[in-house]
Amino acid sequence: MAKKPADSRGKKTCPKCETVTGVRSKICPKCGHEFPVKSKPTKSKPTDLAAALELLKDLQAFSKESGGLDSAIEWIDSVDKLAQACGGLDELRTALKTASEL
Ligand SMILES: [Zn+2]
Repeated sequence: MAKKPADSRGKKTCPKCETVTGVRSKICPKCGHEFPVKSKPTKSKPTDLAAALELLKDLQAFSKESGGLDSAIEWIDSVDKLAQACGGLDELRTALKTASEL
């Protein structure tokens, strides 16, 4: 049986005992080491996209009210930074909605 080197793509190595296991394993099958769960920021998540589209709708209204695309673009930059600081568009949107209702 020939081994397929390409298989190592979906694998990871235990830092404790160097056992190679599936990349989705949460615990090493040999020594029980718990692999840290990576929370990778997926930018193209459908939920994020939906939130972004909702935000764009708000932005269109905001742009009209604040009288200019320049201020709207500045706002987008702020939103981008705030979204990163808040940990997501959903969180930021919730915060903005709350703020706008005050
Ligand atoms: Zn291990």
